[in-house]
Amino acid sequence: MLARSVLLPTCLKALPARGFACKVCAAAAPPQPKQRLNNGLEMPLFGLGTWKSKGGALETSVRTALESGYRHIDCASAYSNQDTVGKTFQEVFAEGTVARDDIWVTSKLFNKDHARVREAWPVLKPSIKETWQDMEKLVDDGLVKSIGISNFSVKKTQHLLGYARIKPVANQVELHPYFRNCATADFCQAENILITAYSPLGSNDSEQMFGREGIPKVLDDETVLSIAQDLGWTPAQVLCRWSLQHGYSTIPKSVSPQRIRENLEVVGMELPAKHFDQLNNLEFQIRMLDGNFTTGPNTPYPTINELWDGEVPEENLKRRGLVAA
Ligand code: NAP
Repeated sequence: MLARSVLLPTCLKALPARGFACKVCAAAAPPQPKQRLNNGLEMPLFGLGTWKSKGGALETSVRTALESGYRHIDCASAYSNQDTVGKTFQEVFAEGTVARDDIWVTSKLFNKDHARVREAWPVLKPSIKETWQDMEKLVDDGLVKSIGISNFSVKKTQHLLGYARIKPVANQVELHPYFRNCATADFCQAENILITAYSPLGSNDSEQMFGREGIPKVLDDETVLSIAQDLGWTPAQVLCRWSLQHGYSTIPKSVSPQRIRENLEVVGMELPAKHFDQLNNLEFQIRMLDGNFTTGPNTPYPTINELWDGEVPEENLKRRGLVAA
């Protein structure tokens, strides 16, 4: 991704128009929702996240996802596991269950790799403009079909649009009911840049990594739990469906085959307007991944506010001692 990472989705083909049989349960999986992007290609909206997954658990999760109907896998060189994802792809494709052409693979260029766009495909020296121009060359040379951005604020996106020869197809950002990220989401939707919602379940398994102990979890939110109870869904399904129903590409991570299938079920569900609105109005807002560890005196973004161009909930600033708690 650019700036705070440039996203390199390598799209292959759109999904078949009809549904397909799930290899595991033999039932017909519903057709996958997809979105036509600003470059004319279609992206399957629901995907599997792979950050933090590794080894055998990652292999099982990618295999389960492909066999149960996922057609979009979200990766990054910074996750240090793309070799395992690739190996699993090869095995599944060789078995003939799923064809490579049917899969959308997103990969990303991490901040520190901006100077090596080609090798890293999917901090600080080259400008975002130079990095984007290198990425545009990847499209020119047929190495990827689509390019996008990640963690771009409205300000950074506007700036990039000022010089981009190829418009980003997507902006992958943190997004869930505890961080609706409205300014960026509204801006990108108006610009026909698809929003991909990362950490749609609140990224519980990165809690310790980023010292978030004690911060409320969206999966445990009382409104989410009560909606789940009303509808007979799981809380994760409520969150995934809310995101998908906004039109966002949604990429929950799981290494549990049961949860991977459970999450995908939302493509055939509908959140009633009443519940949808309740989730659109939750007061508590926080960036679970506030990137504070990347800020500091010798970085391009000395403060958290500069990092996100002011798009930081009050709660994050309080946590960082930047406003009175
Ligand atoms: P997430 O998808 O919000 O949450 C993952 C956590 O939820 C894991 O602990 C997982 O546990 C659990 N989970 C999954 N399904 C569940 C279910 N049905 N019920 C209860 N718990 C469930 O977190 P994330 O990994 O931060 O975000 C998703 C993906 O977005 C990443 O994997 C990555 O691909 C992408 N991402 C991109 C960026 C970026 O900067 N561009 C940043 C963060 C994330 P189990 O695995 O044990 O099931």
